[in-house]
Parts: sequence; structure tokens; C-alpha cells
Amino acid sequence: MSERRDRDPGCLFCRIVAGEIPSEPVAEADDVIAIRDISPRAPSHVLLVTREHIPSAADLGAADGPLLGSVFELAASIARAEGIAETGYRVVTNVGEWGGQTVPHLHFHLLGGRSMSWPPG
Ligand code: 5GP
Ligand code: ZN
Repeated sequence: MSERRDRDPGCLFCRIVAGEIPSEPVAEADDVIAIRDISPRAPSHVLLVTREHIPSAADLGAADGPLLGSVFELAASIARAEGIAETGYRVVTNVGEWGGQTVPHLHFHLLGGRSMSWPPG
């Protein structure tokens, strides 16, 4: 159970969390950091990255309720600060290859500042 949460020295987001690779911080909480996406897909594109190495949302369980509460609370707070709360925004996490996940460390995209289409491509 705890093994999957050990830091992975080869993981890009573990290295960003550790400060070994620079990123543009937006906000942080005890269990999650928020940084600007290096390749923004919307006027506001923030990544909420868990401090622990969790491969994806497929590895979450009931015990992660507080972690997820923290993620969404931080997302809402950032959305207000970014000025996108009123118009609306999207919070999404990709899982696996067909889900579009490219970094196997749990993160949530906060996207806003433009109208989003549905369904995603
Ligand atoms: P995924 O494709 O796994 O859902 O999301 C990974 C995200 O990480 C992508 O949106 C990508 O642009 C972003 N990304 C990849 N490398 C870096 C990096 O070195 N720094 C930052 N801030 N974002 C990155
Ligand atoms: Zn990691």
C-alpha cells in the first residue's frame, strides 16, 4: 500500500516536487503543489501535483478522500485567484495511454480562460 507512494527518483514530477527540476509555482498545500503547465492548452493551465508518488487516479482509494479534498479545494482557490471561477473551468486527470496520460505521477489539470468543448478529443 505504501510502496507505491515512495519517491521515484526517475519520475519527472517527483523531481519537480523535490525542487530538482525548476517549475513555476502557483500555490501549495500540505499534500499537493500547483505549478504552471510547461505547454499551456488554455489561457490558464495549472497542474496540481501530489507530493507523493502515486502513478494515477487508478491507484486511489477511500483513504485518499482527504487528499482529493485538498486537491479540489486548492483548485477552487487557484481558479478564484486566476479570475476564471466566474466563467467556469475544467479539472481533469488523465489515466493511462488512451486517457492521454504522459507523466505517470498523479496530477490534475486546471484549465480555464476559454470555453471548453465536450467531449474531449
Ligand atoms: P498528462 O499528459 O500526463 O495528463 O499531463 C502531463 C502534463 O505535464 C502536460 O500537460 C505537459 O505539458 C506537462 N509537463 C511535461 N513536462 C513538464 C515540465 O517539465 N514542467 C511542467 N511544468 N509541466 C510539464
Ligand atoms: Zn513521481
